[in-house]
Amino acid sequence: MENIQSNFIRDKIITDMNESSDSYKIITRFPPEPNGYLHIGHAKAICLSFGLADEFGGQCHLRFDDTNPSKEEQEFVDSIKEDIQWLGWDWGSSLYYASDYFDQLYDFAIKLIQKNLAYVDDQSHETIRDQRGTLTEAGINSPFRDRSIEENEALFQKMKNGEFPDGSRVLRAKIDMTSGNINLRDPILYRIMRSTHHRTGNNWCIYPMYDFAHGQSDSIEGITHSLCTMEFEDHRPLYDWIIDALGIHHPQQIEFARLNLSHTVLSKRRLNRLVTEGYVTGWDDPRMPTLSGLRRRGYSSESIRNFCEIIGIAKRQNTVDFSLLEHCIREDLNVNAPRVMGIIDPIKVIIDNYPSPQIEYLDAVNNPMKPELGTRKLPFGKELYIERSDFEENPPSKYYRLYLGNEVRLRYAYFITCVGFDKDDTTGEITAVHCTYDPDTKGGNAPDDRKVKGTIHWVSAKESIDVNVRKYDRLFNVENPDFDDDFLSSLNPNSFIEIQNSKVEINLKDEKIGFKCQFERNGYFVIDKDTTSSRLVFNQIVALRDSWNKKINQ
Ligand code: ATP
Ligand code: MG
Repeated sequence: MENIQSNFIRDKIITDMNESSDSYKIITRFPPEPNGYLHIGHAKAICLSFGLADEFGGQCHLRFDDTNPSKEEQEFVDSIKEDIQWLGWDWGSSLYYASDYFDQLYDFAIKLIQKNLAYVDDQSHETIRDQRGTLTEAGINSPFRDRSIEENEALFQKMKNGEFPDGSRVLRAKIDMTSGNINLRDPILYRIMRSTHHRTGNNWCIYPMYDFAHGQSDSIEGITHSLCTMEFEDHRPLYDWIIDALGIHHPQQIEFARLNLSHTVLSKRRLNRLVTEGYVTGWDDPRMPTLSGLRRRGYSSESIRNFCEIIGIAKRQNTVDFSLLEHCIREDLNVNAPRVMGIIDPIKVIIDNYPSPQIEYLDAVNNPMKPELGTRKLPFGKELYIERSDFEENPPSKYYRLYLGNEVRLRYAYFITCVGFDKDDTTGEITAVHCTYDPDTKGGNAPDDRKVKGTIHWVSAKESIDVNVRKYDRLFNVENPDFDDDFLSSLNPNSFIEIQNSKVEINLKDEKIGFKCQFERNGYFVIDKDTTSSRLVFNQIVALRDSWNKKINQ
């Protein structure tokens, strides 16, 4: 536990524990609304609430905040559960739905009415909004504010019984229309909305508002620390007011800064638009900052948890650079990903002096970070593929790879010298590079200690497999698209390319979806779910170069 980074919430919990009896147990919760898939910002909230419960022997509840049936679906409930489990957290038997409390919430509302702390308002939502006032101007009392307790109770029951049309009446808390906090200006607690709920069906035609459902659900479950993002800070007085008015268990709400990540959006409404309007292929598109997208992209749950640990918890807003997330997955893959030969954009090499039909098998190291994983055999023959960019007809200065007359090392194989090339007369494209090899350099070292400056990767032309490689770039061209109303205009049109004729070493032929590896010199890759029985499809997870490391070492 010694490498746990502390923060003000953790410190507060430690204080609360010290001041309580030995049997005191902290209870936190993660309350997603099932109206979209979870994203990396949610991972921050999840790691905080589940992490603290875990560290201090408490419990974290998973509670679906499903009080708005018009936007919620079972698909989202299922994906949220899957993503939390994938991250490695366990809610045990503490799975709840705010909709399970609809009866209790209704009774709470009746209790407020009976205490003359809530009333039915017949005005439209627009009028109510107009009467709320502004930051500098007080609101106006509704003409229905002084209805009798009996009338309010009877009207609220009729709302529940479906006797009024949608939107025609609401239940409001009776607090203070002149409050400096607009949330306390008689907020709406219930509205009429005929909409089929994913769990309660058509049992209800009135639904509680977030502010009414949330705090009371926390209270019902005995939550001790209700951790949420800063935008709820202004709602805390209302959270406290309702709980005090009802005289029920009082959890403490504590706010922290939400995660903003550069070059992407983390608003579910916006992510939803990207999906439904076809800018990406789905919630799990490998460019999406969703947990399902990151998983498909090849991120491990450890790397995401590590990222959440590094960014820490504070109250101040900031934007975390995407390269920090990339740094976290690179650290993981550097240690864990096996190295393989993969040629993204191949060009053929013919070894003119190699005895033709012969195939020999050379030893290649599986993972230099884990020598205990040993070596494997790479087939080598007369015809190979190398990266097109590793040959130059007209080499610029300091180009140490293949060009006419130059000698390079084929990794784990031989030294080769370029002796010619074939060119398509009409297109001008180089179609093959001719080389000779030095049989005395087997394994990649010359007996006479002759040095070469370039080492390049390769696969055997005969014994390799054709694969598709998908490369991704930032989804948005600007740093903070989430702060811009016109966020779609900064979508990066080049965030995805697919290369159809890449080659990888034969040893990968039986690898399955989710297999991760390093293509030497090219980056880290994972086998995508679009793979078929006849074609492997690889996603680039991240490039080899670490721009984050560079930044922090500057
Ligand atoms: P959005 O605004 O994108 O719709 P949300 O906050 O409405 O997100 P919820 O499903 O209500 O989404 O979120 C569940 C929990 O996750 C909330 O407690 C919320 O504070 C937290 N959360 C959401 N986004 C972030 C973020 N970017 N960083 C940290 N926590 C977040
Ligand atoms: Mg929300």
